[in-house]
Amino acid sequence: MTLEVEELSYAFGERRALDRVSFTVPECRFCALLGPNGAGKSTLFNLLTRLFTTREGRIRIAGHDLSQTPRAALARIGVVFQQQTLDLDLTVSQNLRYYAALHGLAGREGELRIAAALDRLAIADRAQDRVRELNGGHRRRTEIARALVHRPPVLLLDEPTVGLDAAARAAITDHVHALCADSGLTVLWATHLTDEVAPTDQVVILHQGRVRADGEAGEIAPGGRLRAQFLALTADAA
Ligand code: ADP
Ligand code: MG
Repeated sequence: MTLEVEELSYAFGERRALDRVSFTVPECRFCALLGPNGAGKSTLFNLLTRLFTTREGRIRIAGHDLSQTPRAALARIGVVFQQQTLDLDLTVSQNLRYYAALHGLAGREGELRIAAALDRLAIADRAQDRVRELNGGHRRRTEIARALVHRPPVLLLDEPTVGLDAAARAAITDHVHALCADSGLTVLWATHLTDEVAPTDQVVILHQGRVRADGEAGEIAPGGRLRAQFLALTADAA
C-alpha cells in the first residue's frame, strides 16, 4: 500500500480540523480528496508533508512511517502546494535546478532529470523562459514537473487547478491522470470540483474533518452523479 492514513486527528486549539481520518490509496491509483472549503484538505496535506505533526494517528508513505522514519517517507513524495511557490524571475529550468540540487541531483544527471520532467508535462519548449512569461496553466505544470524531479512514487497536489481557466484546468487534470496510468505514480489530488474526477478514480469525500465516503467514483455515485452525491454528503452545515 502506498499511502496509508490511519485514525488521523488534528485540532487548532478547540477546533477539530481532522477527526479520525482513515483511508488507503493503493499503488498506481489516482485518488481525489474531495471536500468543500474548510473540509480539512490542506490540514491533511500539512500533516502528510510534516509541516504539522500530531500524535493522534499515523501516516505511512510507501511503507515508511512518517513519524518514525520521516526522511525515508518524505523522500518518496512530490508535493504541489495550494499556493504557487515558483520564483517568477528565474527561468523554468532554473526553478527546477535548485530543487534538483536539494535532492542531490546536480550536473548532468540533474539536467537530464529536469529535461525528462519538463518533457513529461509537455513544457520542455518553455525551459528557458522566465516563469513570469508563462500563463497560469504552464506555471502549474512547472510546479508538477518540479515535484517529480526526484522521481517520487507518490504525488500530492492541493487544489492544483484553482484560478485556472476551464481549458488549462482540463489539460492539467488529464496530464496528471495520464502520469498515474503511464508512469505508475500514486496521486492524491485535493479538490472541491467533481468534474476533475474520472469514473474509475478513487474518491475520498472529506467534510468537517471526517471521511464521508471512500470508494471508486462510479460506485459511490453510479451513473455519473458524483456532484449530486457530493452535495448530499456535504449538505449539513458546520
Ligand atoms: P480546506 O483545505 O479543505 O479548505 P483547511 O484544512 O484549510 O480546509 O481547514 C480546515 C479547518 O481548519 C477549517 O475550519 C479552517 O478554518 C481551520 N483552520 C485551518 N487553518 C487554521 C489555522 N491556522 N488556525 C486555525 N484554524 C485553522
Ligand atoms: Mg485548502
